[in-house]
Amino acid sequence: MSWLKKQGFVFFTASELIRHFQQRGTFPSQGIALTFDDGWKDNYTNAFPILKQLGIKATIFIIPSSIGRVFAGDAAEGEQPHEHLSRNEILEMAAHGIEFGSHTMNHRLLNQISEPEVKSEVEDAKLEIENLVQKPCLTFAYPAGYFSEPARRAVEQAGHIAAFSTTYGPADRVDLFALNRTEILRRDRFLFQYARKFAPLRSKASG
Ligand SMILES: [Zn+2]
Repeated sequence: MSWLKKQGFVFFTASELIRHFQQRGTFPSQGIALTFDDGWKDNYTNAFPILKQLGIKATIFIIPSSIGRVFAGDAAEGEQPHEHLSRNEILEMAAHGIEFGSHTMNHRLLNQISEPEVKSEVEDAKLEIENLVQKPCLTFAYPAGYFSEPARRAVEQAGHIAAFSTTYGPADRVDLFALNRTEILRRDRFLFQYARKFAPLRSKASG
């Protein structure tokens, strides 16, 4: 995070970045939005202290039905059972400017369920998140990146202003309801690997 700051990247929440695009037709030069999917507890224990210290904004896409819950089943070997953020942790982070977006109500893959199910997954999650953080929930991330036309439509009709996919890398054109991201993995722990991922963003920003 310090390196990104030193490189001149400026951090926005996802909705701030989108609003900028809607108003001016371009993204802010060197603008960047950090996003986290699923709302795992380590967003609070590991990331939040660093974000707070460096004054960096970020956006976390949460699953209302998972708040405060522990998933033991999908922990990889040698890993702790995955625990999700609690309500209080979410509220504390929201008070410090972290944005909370939607990752559906139950993390169901939206290309595999019926249209009414898609609608309730999308609409219920938005409402729950708004009731919890008392701010509009404007951004969305498709579970596992899967979406279909009905899913896209439901996300837009529910009042979100943008949705993120898990298609990685720069995009040729901006599609606000199928936004690409740059994925940072655990194996990108060496600065040269990490830096390489930001090179296309920089040339995009200046171009
Ligand atoms: Zn997810």
